[in-house]
Amino acid sequence: MTAASSLGTIRVVSLYDDVMNVYADRGNLLALQHRAAALGVSVEASRVSLGDALPAEADLVLIGGGQDREQRRIADELVRRGALLREWAEDDVAMLAVCGGFQLFGRWYRDAQGEEIPGIGLFDVTTVAPPPGWTRCIGDVLVQSPVGAIGEVVGFENHGGRTYLGPGARPFARVEYGFGNNGADGTEGCVYRQALGTYLHGSVLPKNLGLLDHLLEAALRHRYGPEARIEGVPDVYAARAHDAAVAVARRRAPRFEGVAR
Ligand code: GLN
Repeated sequence: MTAASSLGTIRVVSLYDDVMNVYADRGNLLALQHRAAALGVSVEASRVSLGDALPAEADLVLIGGGQDREQRRIADELVRRGALLREWAEDDVAMLAVCGGFQLFGRWYRDAQGEEIPGIGLFDVTTVAPPPGWTRCIGDVLVQSPVGAIGEVVGFENHGGRTYLGPGARPFARVEYGFGNNGADGTEGCVYRQALGTYLHGSVLPKNLGLLDHLLEAALRHRYGPEARIEGVPDVYAARAHDAAVAVARRRAPRFEGVAR
């Protein structure tokens, strides 16, 4: 597919994608680059890991998931970068934080040993590992998001941590099938300005064009102002992948009825 006339360039920061890459969440960057090219948007991607400097500016930040061990590896440095990341969020930089990355974009994650891994407090959420004997939240997940025109999002989740929204926090989506934030209150993820947190792995972007285009457009608007927009073009492969994953989620995942033990 040839690119449309250039809509401009977005600066994308992929945080710790060599560490926080469970379920190939780095695929979100690849999907973004592919879709951007198809829509005539250029991408300047900076992969930033332990010890690397953050670029001076960004239009979109991505961080994937990781097991407790990986989260401990990045937490101290991430917290040191928290002030800048929060400043970017206040400036409407688009963000997608997945699972363990989402947890560490919250206030803290208390792991199974009761140790609190500090987060950057961008989302007003806290996460706690469940008591012994509780199941992990694992499986296909289907949610409906009221954010922009995102709508239906499908993915895969695997987390022990249960995330709870603070008083002022807004969920990214509502659970239709699967567990979501905690398997009890029907919320999934969190949204703060243009920053989105979610538990959906997959990676999530290749088969959820509504979410992908939402992030692309938000990044363009951060750089070029509120008039910037993209004209979504159909992507038959993404649509087929989405529909296939939705059918699997409806078949295999528990319809959300409440508490996951
Ligand atoms: N370690 C976190 C948990 O188990 C996040 C896991 C993940 O990123 N898949 O809840």
